[in-house]
Amino acid sequence: MRKLLVANRGEIAVRVLRAAREMGIRTVAVYSDADLHAPHALLADEAVYLGASEPLESYLRADKILDAARRTGADAIHPGYGFLAESADFAEACAEAGLPFVGPPATAMRRLGAKIAAKRLANDAGVPTVPGYFEPDASEEDLRRAAHRVGYPVLLKASAGGGGRGMRVVLSESEFGAQYRTATDEARNAFGDGAMMVEKLVERPHHVEVQILADTHGQVAALFERECSVQRRHQKLIEEAPSPLFANGARPEVWAAMREAAISLARAAGYVGAGTVEFIVEPTTDAFYFLEVNARLQVEHPVTEAITGVDLVQWQLRIARGERLSLAPPLMVGDRTAIRGHAIEARVVAEDPAQNFAPSTGRLVGWAEPTGPGIRVDTGYGPGVEVPRYYDSLLAKTIVHGESREAARVRLRQALADFHVLGVRTNIAFLRDLLEAPAFLAGSVDTGFVEREFDWEDTADHSAELGLIAGAAGNARPTTERTPHTRPAGPWESADGFRNVR
Ligand code: ADP
Ligand code: ADP
Ligand code: MG
Repeated sequence: MRKLLVANRGEIAVRVLRAAREMGIRTVAVYSDADLHAPHALLADEAVYLGASEPLESYLRADKILDAARRTGADAIHPGYGFLAESADFAEACAEAGLPFVGPPATAMRRLGAKIAAKRLANDAGVPTVPGYFEPDASEEDLRRAAHRVGYPVLLKASAGGGGRGMRVVLSESEFGAQYRTATDEARNAFGDGAMMVEKLVERPHHVEVQILADTHGQVAALFERECSVQRRHQKLIEEAPSPLFANGARPEVWAAMREAAISLARAAGYVGAGTVEFIVEPTTDAFYFLEVNARLQVEHPVTEAITGVDLVQWQLRIARGERLSLAPPLMVGDRTAIRGHAIEARVVAEDPAQNFAPSTGRLVGWAEPTGPGIRVDTGYGPGVEVPRYYDSLLAKTIVHGESREAARVRLRQALADFHVLGVRTNIAFLRDLLEAPAFLAGSVDTGFVEREFDWEDTADHSAELGLIAGAAGNARPTTERTPHTRPAGPWESADGFRNVR
């Protein structure tokens, strides 16, 4: 692997580009109209224009991406997350073009991509799933009968679903028909596939997921878990590692069984690369159930990197090159004494909590990131950059590492206080208040907590914040037009990406 094309944008493209550069691999970025001046396009050795800002015209165009790889002589493609990352067809097209896709083989993606197929594979591998009905081509009547059998409340889920879409809680039989229609319509519109499954609604669960790394030589390691129970509308807001459920050596048998389940499933699917096996846990009974596999790098992967010292993106690339997985022995066997401290991530998004989390777009006229010991900011934005309306709202991930959960929590609260963004509305004040919620302090937040109990009111003094960042507004980036280009290899190719500005 000498030249890597990163088929993505934003913070994850920047993250992958940096990892490749550290490994001496040359880099190619791709960009749309909206991202002409985006940091990811400036950071790479070369940048190839894809097309209009709409994802269907640019970041979702497999043909244009493969063509960009051919034109630049790239010999591998990293998909990031979102966009084409979980498209088995794209992974297959890359393989057919002789360009290794940095991710699992298309066969493994097909076994895990649809929730129905993944649940059946899990059942066959002896991995616990929530009681429910996971048959292909289920009719409304099949699902209604199954709902009656497992008992209300139940959750109807789109087999092709993601990001919490196509999912509906059904409290009683009388509302089954209406919720079934809403969920299938949403799934057809969002995923072009209305296939549904039903399962028992687990009351007040924790979301706990296991990070997997599998090489092409049959080795699979589980790099512990992440707790992602701080969610709003099934979207994660704050993630941490390790899970508070396993604090101070608690529930060792649950970790052992969950690790075992994640590894068996990865083996059953023929998994290769980095992946995440998601579970929900019922803390009252310690029962855990498999939800789905995210066959890609996960947004919240940095908290695992912080507590293990493992660079997951570099391992993705090394595995794609055929290297054997060689981590410290305690990491290979899931020995929890290998865990170093505690890490927490907060997703800073361009959404306005005071306006029911409406997306906020515009030019970032002021931008000041927190820095300091144990603080990492992953972002694809910066001063002067435009936040376009075409993509997801993630601005930056603030990740902190501390000796203990409490040290990390205090550090994150302070880091967020030092994060100033002017030009779009953000959820920073909301995140800071979440970190103060007694349930968060206790580590007892379940996935319904934010919507059920967290009553947020914006009490921050914005005038003070505006004053603080007024100075930062001066350093907005120049907006010289850059023509779409493919830069030939030259004497500056290994230098900082800023030399690419034209
Ligand atoms: P994670 O657990 O990594 O946060 P998410 O479900 O939040 O997983 O998705 C991560 C990224 O993938 C986000 O950018 C989101 O917009 C995108 N995404 C999730 N589901 C889909 C989907 N079905 N189709 C396209 N993009 C998706
Ligand atoms: P998606 O593809 O949208 O991420 P998941 O199946 O992973 O769908 O579920 C997303 C979230 O929905 C979980 O993190 C959890 O909060 C909630 N959830 C999923 N299944 C159940 C269930 N059976 N009972 C209770 N909550 C659930
Ligand atoms: Mg999920």
